[in-house]
Parts: sequence; C-alpha cells; structure tokens
Amino acid sequence: MQNLNFHPSGRHFLQIPGPSPVPDRILRAISFPTIDHRGPEFGALGRQVLSGIGKIFKTQHPVVIYPSSGTGAWEAALVNTLSPGDAVLMYETGHFASLWKKMAERLGLEPEFLGLAGMEGWRHGVQADAIERRLKADGGHRIKAVCVVHNETSTGVTSDIAAVRRAIDAAKHPALFMVDTISGLASADYRHDEWGVDVTVSGSQKGLMLPPGISFNALSPKALAASKTAKLPKAFWAWDEIVEMNRNGYWPYTPSTNLLYGLAESIDMILEEGLDDVFARHQRLGEACRQAVRAWGFEIQCADEAFHSPVLTGVMMPEGVDADAVRRAIYEHFNMSLGAGLGKVKGRMFRIGHLGDCNDLTLMATLSGCEMGLQMAGAPVRGSGVRAAIEYLQSTARPVARHPAL
Ligand code: PLP
Repeated sequence: MQNLNFHPSGRHFLQIPGPSPVPDRILRAISFPTIDHRGPEFGALGRQVLSGIGKIFKTQHPVVIYPSSGTGAWEAALVNTLSPGDAVLMYETGHFASLWKKMAERLGLEPEFLGLAGMEGWRHGVQADAIERRLKADGGHRIKAVCVVHNETSTGVTSDIAAVRRAIDAAKHPALFMVDTISGLASADYRHDEWGVDVTVSGSQKGLMLPPGISFNALSPKALAASKTAKLPKAFWAWDEIVEMNRNGYWPYTPSTNLLYGLAESIDMILEEGLDDVFARHQRLGEACRQAVRAWGFEIQCADEAFHSPVLTGVMMPEGVDADAVRRAIYEHFNMSLGAGLGKVKGRMFRIGHLGDCNDLTLMATLSGCEMGLQMAGAPVRGSGVRAAIEYLQSTARPVARHPAL
C-alpha cells in the first residue's frame, strides 16, 4: 500500500470549493463515541439537528438529512416528486447543472436544458426571463419542475433564486421549483421559504464545514404533496418514512451519528457568528480575492458583476497557460490544493475556494501561494494580487477578537 504517512509540516491548505477545511471544534465533536441510534440520547441529538438545520435553510418545513453525498440528495429531490417521462426545465450554468441534467435523463425524465450559447452560459447565472418565456409557452403544463443551481461551483457564478420564483409566478405555471445550493448554503444568502422553493438540495462539505457524507432536501408542503403521487421508484430516498420518524428525532435506518454530532456543532458555530455575519465575511473575502485576480491581470470566470460567488473565484488562464500546471506547481511547492477546471473549462481555469472556516489570514496565505505558483509556472502575472488584497482587507478590517483580554 502507498505510504500515506508523509506529513509536510504545517497544515495542508485545502482551498478547493469544497470539501472545505473542517474546524477543530467540529473534528472534536465528530470524535465523540458513537451511540445507539435507537436510544434516548440519539433522539435528543436528532431533534436538535433537525430543528437547527431549518434555521440555516430558513424554513419552517421538514428538512430531510441523508447519509450520502450531495449527488444522493439530487436524486432524492427528483425521485420523490416526479414520474417517468415528466418534462423538467433545467438551466445550464456549468458542470454541476449539466450533471444534474444527466441524472434526470438516467432516471427516465425528459429534461430540457435552457442556457446562453457557447461559453457564455458558463459565465453568467440563470436568466429568469428565459425561464418565464419558456413556461409561458408551456400552456399544457407539461413541464413538472424547474431545476436550477444557486451557486455553480464549477464557475463561481451565483443565480438570483428569488427572480426565478418571480418568473414561475409571472408565467402562472404550477411547476415545482427545485434548487441546488450544495455549495451555497451557509456561505451565501439563502431563504428556502421566502423564495418559494419546493425542494432545496444541499450537502455537508462546503459552507457547513463538515466532512463529506451527509446531504439535505429541504421541503415545501407542495413538494410533500407531490411525493404522494410521484411514480419514479424510490425506497431509500423516500421522504415519507424519514419525515415520520424524524418527528421523534430518529431515522428508519442507521444515520451518520458522528457526522450529526459535527452538524450540531456546525449549526452552533454558524448561529453564534450570526448567519448575516457569515454571509458578509464570505462577501468580503470574495471581493478581496477578486481584487487579487484583477491585479494579477487575469479574467474572472464570472462575467456578471452582480453575481460573483462569495464561495469561490474562477481564475481564467490566458491562451498558452495550462491551469492544471499552475495548480500542480502550487500543490507541489506550497502544499495547497486548488479546484481544477471541470468539464468545458478543464485546463483553462482554476478555482480558489474561500468558503466555510476561512478568514483574512487564510485568504492571504492562499493568495500568496497562488501568486508564487503562478509566477513559477510561467503565467504572465502583471502585478501583485497579494498587495491588492492586503489593501482591500486593511481598508475594510474590523475587530474579530471577542475575548476582552486579547
Ligand atoms: N452540485 C454542486 C453545485 C456541487 O458543487 C456538487 C459537488 O461539488 C454537487 C452538486 C455534487 O455533490 P457531491 O459531490 O457531494 O455528490
């Protein structure tokens, strides 16, 4: 077996847009002894996390927690609400939107993919007016669901979910509204109930700062009603038994007990900081990162000023520079992982994650690693992004130390 014991000194910088670094406080919580998932302590834990996670999604309705990665929660959203052959309107914002569409095809649905032509679709968010036009043309209401990605992790572009809701309402269309905020939740503003989303899909390993392994479906009463008549086969993913047993804090199968300890800790940490402060921290770090990219002289993948992701920044490399070679140089010399370009943009861009457990200094270390690695890989760096980010962070700094003695 390969020797995995080699440990370069200092922490590895996991700056991919998820999984994000897991804070020590959460790692410690996860390390508590596993308990009986049918016993009384477990019921209390289950009730605690199920009520707490509702605050993160901003919903009064059930949130289903699965022991799976986000892909499982994608599948759960579709199989619980739809029937074979149903038409589904999806929107191409990038690699993850494309994977969700591929899944819909594999499940026997008929997805229709809207989006801007060529690369433009991968540089902008969802165009709500295009959704409105398409739904208005669907007089017979063949389309049963509209599915969009809130934070497209492959590009660093967010979408206006409230605007998509308004578009569905303006078309007076009864389609269900499903949103993937796997990488947006707990980093970017998200409001399941207020934005009228029927199923929100998310995962543990991004803004929630947990290891990969649990995922979520936040539901609406309309989604629950649809699940009573939907005909796609479902067993493990079926909401009914889970929601029923969740009332007392239990699951119909063995849940990921230790990850749920971590989730309880994560919810506490996020609510202690305050959701709005968590979002503001991500916005500010995102802006600092973009200032650095502009100073280096590179283009940002997101071409729409209003929709930059607070979770990650996609950095496009000029013609002739291999983005994967840049990432390799940074990994080999500075022990830092950055996100690769996925799908259509493979080798042409890399992604800097600034989500979850991050602050000014982790971002500055990240940007220093990038700047050094870019130069070493021969990318034409125009100016110091590190200097630009320092200036921005200094000019917007505010105290973070809470202990009066510090
Ligand atoms: N959707 C988005 C937006 C993602 O970022 C990811 C993973 O990064 C997924 C779906 C798939 O989730 P998972 O890899 O946890 O199955």
